[in-house]
Amino acid sequence: MSAGRAGPLDFLEERLEDLRRRSLVREIRPMESAPGPHAVLGGRDVILLSSNNYLDLANDPRVRGSAARAAERFGSGTGGSRLTTGALDLHDALEADLARFKGTEAALLFGTGHMANVGLITALCGRGDVIFSDALNHASIIDGCRQSRADVEIYAHNDAADLRRRILARRERGGRMRGLVVTDSVFSMDGDIADVPALAREAHAAGLALVVDEAHATGVIGRRGHGVEEHFGLEGADASLRPDVVVGTLSKALGSMGGFVCGGRTLIEWLRSASRAFIFSTSLPAPCLAAARTALEILEAEPARVERLRGNVALLCRLLQEGGVAAETPTAILPVIVGGSERALDAARRMLASGCLAGAIRYPTVPENAARLRITLCGGHTEDDVAVAASALISALERTARAPSG
Ligand SMILES: *Cc1c(COP(=O)(O)O)cnc(C)c1O
Repeated sequence: MSAGRAGPLDFLEERLEDLRRRSLVREIRPMESAPGPHAVLGGRDVILLSSNNYLDLANDPRVRGSAARAAERFGSGTGGSRLTTGALDLHDALEADLARFKGTEAALLFGTGHMANVGLITALCGRGDVIFSDALNHASIIDGCRQSRADVEIYAHNDAADLRRRILARRERGGRMRGLVVTDSVFSMDGDIADVPALAREAHAAGLALVVDEAHATGVIGRRGHGVEEHFGLEGADASLRPDVVVGTLSKALGSMGGFVCGGRTLIEWLRSASRAFIFSTSLPAPCLAAARTALEILEAEPARVERLRGNVALLCRLLQEGGVAAETPTAILPVIVGGSERALDAARRMLASGCLAGAIRYPTVPENAARLRITLCGGHTEDDVAVAASALISALERTARAPSG
């Protein structure tokens, strides 16, 4: 560290400089409040337009009350993995709740949604297997695919016909056809919905399992917020049209923290004994478990929350369209693409000046020329909030478009 001596990590300064030049350095902005329709940032109240706390459950008094009581009773951490000393009845109870909620035989909890994807995919696939993965899948799916060492075939975004062509091409080359098709059900940066019945048909015709990641679907799509199967009306449908495995997170609409996999009994039993992200990591602590159970109960009892969220998104899209901004989404995620990274940062700065916090999403999360504001709403935003957000967006986009591009 002393001045003048070259250190072995000095190359990082050059790399950072490169990121700075390209407006790609990431910054952390600590919030001074719970996430909600509004939040406090730098001492100032802002309308929060980028949170995944879609149903306002992270700060619901019943949810945080459950977390607090669980902390009083069981402590803040478990001190062990599920397979050693870190198991509580609460883990089993939440897994039963999740399996019921997703309509599967069983479920398994992981530390995060990211770990659930990595832990699932690496436990199912290895060398010589094949994974067909959507071009816009979440980074945690990509990490799972890479770590599995299976052959990975990226198919065109949400394109079942391209998936079929790639399956046929692999069959012609004589490649092994054991493995998976994996897709986000709601794409995290674009907000569109995967054509799950079509993907299931292709996957199952080839003897492949279909895995869907419901991180942004749970609590958001389907009449009661149950996710993609409810959205397409597949609950009672033939198994050939349904996913075999559902991955999810407790940390978005459910307002807690943790990840899960829902599927058949055999799958879950295998993961307990073979998934490294499950085995070699401390189990979720009681406050997260209790919060998630209460959040699920509220979601089941109050489906109107999902309606309110949908109403807010529809209102925002209508106001933006009236202001000349193309805006349409079937979910709670509205991508507003502005172009380069500097433009996205500029638009986000202008939004903040109007009292709205919207995340600028840049490369490598999205392609370099498709940087965007990723707007999300929650059910608790008022019509006024939505109107303020719409006019802030319209004027930020007009000014950003006029500013010289950097
Ligand atoms: C957020 C997200 C994850 C990761 O979930 P965490 O619980 O935040 O680790 C996985 N998949 C998708 C599609 C996501 O958006």
